[in-house]
Amino acid sequence: EELRELLLSRITDVPDYPKPGVMFKDITPLLADARAFTALTDAFVALCERYGATKVVGLEARGFILAAPVAVRAGVGFVPVRKAGKLPGATLAQSYELEYGSAEIEMHADALTAGDRVLVIDDVLATGGTAEASLKLIRRAGAEVAGVAVLMELGFLPGRDRLAPVLGDAPLEAL
Ligand code: 5GP
Repeated sequence: EELRELLLSRITDVPDYPKPGVMFKDITPLLADARAFTALTDAFVALCERYGATKVVGLEARGFILAAPVAVRAGVGFVPVRKAGKLPGATLAQSYELEYGSAEIEMHADALTAGDRVLVIDDVLATGGTAEASLKLIRRAGAEVAGVAVLMELGFLPGRDRLAPVLGDAPLEAL
């Protein structure tokens, strides 16, 4: 409860960003506050340990910032999932539906191995499309999904429901 209050106090609402009618959750004040960023990292590390993760996947771009210190502190590797066209090596690609149109994300094809248990980390779970596509990539790479951990879940959107069938027994944790 104390952690939740600390984190919430460092997240700002920005109206009409990136387009009119959207209330954007800005996490940059949290990143700039050493105590809050450390507390968040510690909480993610505890989830890594609880779910036996051997790798963390960070989702571009804020997921990179959050997942990298978790990997170092938990002593596991970091794997980026990027928007299409950004990774230099051979990739697996997964497209997913947006409100209007579709998007595609990629992961290096050799980034995970069959024995890996992977915790996906991102800042915000909104519609769940990005996280859902990342879980498909992890499974296609032959690895196991340890869970999804986000700083914040937007409870007024159906992200959790969308993710449920793909998650199976794996947990979705929103700090
Ligand atoms: P989804 O695929 O769940 O609809 O969208 C989640 C992705 O969009 C995440 O990678 C997240 O970074 C970004 N996102 C969507 N809405 C917000 C928001 O209000 N604040 C932040 N920081 N990121 C958002």
